[in-house]
Amino acid sequence: MADSPQTTAASQEYLEWIYRLSKEQSTVQPLDLARALSVSSASVTAMLKRLVAGDLIERTQRGITLTPEGQQIAAGVVRRHTLLERLATDVLGIPWEKADEVACQLEHYVTDEVEERLAAFLGNPTTCPHGQRIDLESPDPSRPLCELGPGETAEVVRISDEDREFLSYLAALGVRPGVRLRVESLAPFNGPMTITIGESRHAIGREAASRVRVTIETQAETQ
Ligand SMILES: [Zn+2]
Repeated sequence: MADSPQTTAASQEYLEWIYRLSKEQSTVQPLDLARALSVSSASVTAMLKRLVAGDLIERTQRGITLTPEGQQIAAGVVRRHTLLERLATDVLGIPWEKADEVACQLEHYVTDEVEERLAAFLGNPTTCPHGQRIDLESPDPSRPLCELGPGETAEVVRISDEDREFLSYLAALGVRPGVRLRVESLAPFNGPMTITIGESRHAIGREAASRVRVTIETQAETQ
């Protein structure tokens, strides 16, 4: 029996997240998926069984990995997701923080033909409005902001968490891809970092800073 569209959408969502997480961290565990997808461990277990049976993932001691077929499906979902986010923000005027949600709802229903035309219409973008790459296999020279030290300047390239509240918070600080910032100081005991963007100074928690990826422009001088 063929999968219902509902099942297909759900399994695609899992494959997409396994793929995205595998690029952000060394291993992907069921708990990571439960958190990312806001579902119970029991749902994750059931879905992982189906994906293993469908030969889309493998489960080893090192966690969950995609099979070549699984990766192909996941890469397609990431591509469609990215294009739909661009459509949402750049064409439809949907706010930054809502784009991910809109794309999630539509990405499973875009045909190859629509995808191709959408890409051409949007001018073949390479990133989503939050800086996530359309091709996750392309090199990623970025580092998490939390790794920077005082005096270092950097350009924001990517927000690796598209949670709505988190994006609203960053938008209020003026942190978005393309923005230059300077790290002024780090509070002790893993306290907040003080950063400046243009003329304004902000404190940003180390945990939040770990979800903002930057490329370093000037390193701090070491004596
Ligand atoms: Zn995005």
